[in-house]
Amino acid sequence: MLDKKAVYVTLGCKLNFAETSSLGDRLEAAGVRRAVRGEKADVCVVNTCTVTETSSHKCRQAINRAIRENPDALMVVMGCYAQMAAREIVAMTGVDMVIDMEHKARAAELIIERLQESRVKNQEPSVESQCLMPFVPSCSRGERTRFFLKVQDGCDYFCTYCVIPFARGRSRNGSIADIVKQAENAVAQGGKEIVITGVNIGDFGKSTGESFFNLIKALDKVECVERYRISSIEPNLLTEEIIDFCAESRRFMPHFHIPLQSGSDEVLRLMHRRYDTELFASRVDYIKKAMPDCFIGVDIIVGTRGETDELFEESFAFASKIDVSQFHVFSYSERPGTAALRIPYKVTEKVKHERSQRLIALSEQKRKNFYSSHIGQVRPVLTEHSHIGLAAKGFTDNYIHVEVDTAAGVQPDNAVVNYRLTGFNEDQTALVGKTIEHQTLNIEY
Ligand code: SF4
Repeated sequence: MLDKKAVYVTLGCKLNFAETSSLGDRLEAAGVRRAVRGEKADVCVVNTCTVTETSSHKCRQAINRAIRENPDALMVVMGCYAQMAAREIVAMTGVDMVIDMEHKARAAELIIERLQESRVKNQEPSVESQCLMPFVPSCSRGERTRFFLKVQDGCDYFCTYCVIPFARGRSRNGSIADIVKQAENAVAQGGKEIVITGVNIGDFGKSTGESFFNLIKALDKVECVERYRISSIEPNLLTEEIIDFCAESRRFMPHFHIPLQSGSDEVLRLMHRRYDTELFASRVDYIKKAMPDCFIGVDIIVGTRGETDELFEESFAFASKIDVSQFHVFSYSERPGTAALRIPYKVTEKVKHERSQRLIALSEQKRKNFYSSHIGQVRPVLTEHSHIGLAAKGFTDNYIHVEVDTAAGVQPDNAVVNYRLTGFNEDQTALVGKTIEHQTLNIEY
C-alpha cells in the first residue's frame, strides 16, 4: 500500500466531478488518501473542461495555480482540455502527466505506477494521449497493383456531424523522409499506383512543420512510381499550387476527390465546414481549367440535421450545376456526442432516402456524361485482374473504369497499357478498351 496524499481540482460538468470522485476512490484504495487543507500533497490531479474558450482559459489558470500551490506534487492533467490541447499542456513547466479521454479509464493505474517510482518529479512528462501518439506511416497493399500510403491521421476540424476527431484524436503525421521511404518500399514490392490516404491529408505537416505541398513534391521524385492519386482533400486545403503541381506532374493523376457535403451555404454553416459553395465552385473551375480531363469525385451528405426541403433543393441545384464527374452520396446518421444533435430540425428516414436517390441519379448522369466525352480517345490503363478467360480491367489515368475487349486475349497484368475507348460495356459501368496498333507497354508518362 502506498502512503500518499492527493489533491483534486475539477472544472466543468457533473460528469467530470463524478469521474474525479471515482478516481479519488480508486487511488484511496491503493493508499492515496485525500489531503486535508494545508497538508502537503504527493499528487495533484486537475480534471479539465473545454466546452468554450473561456473554459480552456480557466483550465490553464487552474493548472498554473495547482503547480504553484503544490510544487513538489506529481502534477496530472486529464479530461476534455487534456484531450484537445495535450501539446500545450505538456509544454507547461511543472506538468508531469497528461491523460486524454481515451486513456482516462486507466488514470488511477497510471498514477499509481508513477507514484511507486523512486523519483516522481522532474522526469520527462508522460503523455497518454492519442493526439501525441507517434505517427508511423504505413503502406498497405490493396489490389495487386495498388498501395495505400497512410500519411496522416486524426483531424482538428470538428465538423458538427463527425465523430472522427473524438475517435482518432488530433491531426498528426509522419515526416516526409519516412513517407518517401514507404513509397520506395511499395515500388520495390511491385506497386505501380500509390493512393495517398489520411483522415484530413491537406492538414499534413501541422505536427512536423512540413506541408502537404512539400510532401507531394518529394513523392513525385520517387523513381518508378507510375501513378499517385490523392484520396480525398478538403476544398479549402486544395490550393492552386497543389492543383498546378498535379497538372504538371507526370506521376500525379488528373483525379481529385473533394468532400462538398452540402451545396447549401446554410447547411455548410450548420456543419461548421470551412468553405462555402463559392469557394468550392472556384476550386472545381480552377481544376477544370488546368486539367480539362480531370475526374472529380465529390462526397455529399443528405438529411443532416437542419437540412430543410428548401435547403436540400438549394444543395441539389448547386450539385447539378458544378462540373464534377461523380457523387458519393451518404445518408446522415446521428452520432452520440456530436454538436449536430443540438440542431432541432430532423429529417425523416423516408425523406433522406428520397434525397439520396435523387443525388445518386444525378451522379449517374454526370458519370456517364464524363465517360461519354472520352469515347474515341486513347488513354493509358493500369491493368489488373487479367486471368485466362476473363477480360482485363483497370482505370485510366483520369479514373475511368475500363474493361478490355475480350477479343484482345489475355492482357499483361499490372502494366500501363494504351487502349482506345470504344463505348460503354453492357451494364454501362465501364468503357470498353480495345488494343491499338503499335501497342506500347509500360508507358512512362
Ligand atoms: S468531416 Fe472530415 S474534416 Fe470534418 S471533422 Fe470529420 S474528419 Fe475532420
